[in-house]
Amino acid sequence: MYEPVILRNVGIENSWDIDVYTERGGYRQAPKALGEYDPGGLIDLVKQSGLRGRGGAGFPTGLKWGFVPKDPTLTKYLVINADESEPGTFSNRAILENDPHQMIEGIIIGGYAIGASTAFIYCRGEFAVGAQRTSAALEQAKERGFIGKGVFGTDYNLDIYLVRGAGAYICGEETALLESLEGNRPMPRTRPPFPAVEGLYSKPTVINNVETLCNLPHIVERGVEWYTSIGRPPRNTGPKVFCVSGLVRDPGNKELPLGVPLRELIYEHSGGMIDDRPVKAVIPGGASAQMIGADQLDINMDFDSLAAVGSMLGSGGVIVMNDQVCIPHAVLRIAEFFSHESCGKCTPCREGTSWLVQILRRICNGQGRFEDLDLLLDLCGKIAGGRTVCALGDASANPVLSGIKLFREEYEHHIKHGTCPTQN
Ligand code: SF4
Repeated sequence: MYEPVILRNVGIENSWDIDVYTERGGYRQAPKALGEYDPGGLIDLVKQSGLRGRGGAGFPTGLKWGFVPKDPTLTKYLVINADESEPGTFSNRAILENDPHQMIEGIIIGGYAIGASTAFIYCRGEFAVGAQRTSAALEQAKERGFIGKGVFGTDYNLDIYLVRGAGAYICGEETALLESLEGNRPMPRTRPPFPAVEGLYSKPTVINNVETLCNLPHIVERGVEWYTSIGRPPRNTGPKVFCVSGLVRDPGNKELPLGVPLRELIYEHSGGMIDDRPVKAVIPGGASAQMIGADQLDINMDFDSLAAVGSMLGSGGVIVMNDQVCIPHAVLRIAEFFSHESCGKCTPCREGTSWLVQILRRICNGQGRFEDLDLLLDLCGKIAGGRTVCALGDASANPVLSGIKLFREEYEHHIKHGTCPTQN
């Protein structure tokens, strides 16, 4: 039986209060990290744990930290990406609202490891409760001397600021987030240079996701052996919060070992399907991910297993669809989202995403043409595959590509009969 660690305080009364957090063992690992490790030792510890970023890309956290220049005279920043906006994803929100001190303890450990004396939490604008509780938690931590000048009585200083976004999806892209923090229009930057070398205000910067940072106190407390015993080592270790939504009986955040089989996630941890209807398709990693069919239910929900079938774990947003869902309509809804959220910087994404919507809309409205399917595939090929500055281009193409690949007959039914195949 798996025992949650990241979400262990969710559901506890006043779990966001510093007294509750400390009574439950909190704020013991950050002083341990500062007392027992030098920054290089902490980076090695996190490298050995195999922790990979939980925000979407799955990049090894220790490796990312290792890219930051070691020169102690350089100003460095730690930026926390709390702009969780991927459709189907809500794990960071749960942490901000229920356990902000766990994130702050992770920030102290991460900030010390990279030598940052300033950290910025960039919080999605819509997270009113999460922002209010995080702000209060920062005040409490400062009053106790856990952050600010002389963290836990050491000579390490760390100021943490909470900054609220304005609701743009693209601010979850790390360089657009940096632009927004600097007060600019949030358009992604071309790389190189990468943020670890030239990030916020042109200084070395690490951007970590909220859930990623929450892993750190537990790695420091229980060690590498414990951490790598969870999941599917060596490349997919530790706990993962899966955000299950869609047509299951018990949707919500499910913390489980990375690599849990999708079938187990749906039928053992999410109550199974509503009305016992069959699974038709699953989007395993937020709306950006390619959907997979019911024949893939035994897949392990980890970075490498999903990449091997052309999809991705992404943010862990698992959207489950049953046999009554019209795939062309579902894909249209996602395409409308990405078209709306395109920042407009590069032509294939700016123009292509709206063309995808126009073509999908006419198919769903019964005015499609059979050649529209090849047109959609051709268009996706001209948007995706590294043709755009950021990953939103690929994200917009993924649902369209996988929808046609897996359910082409539904599109053809729309074109031929002008109705949803699921309504017959
Ligand atoms: Fe902006 Fe889209 Fe280009 Fe990303 S891919 S930079 S969202 S236009």
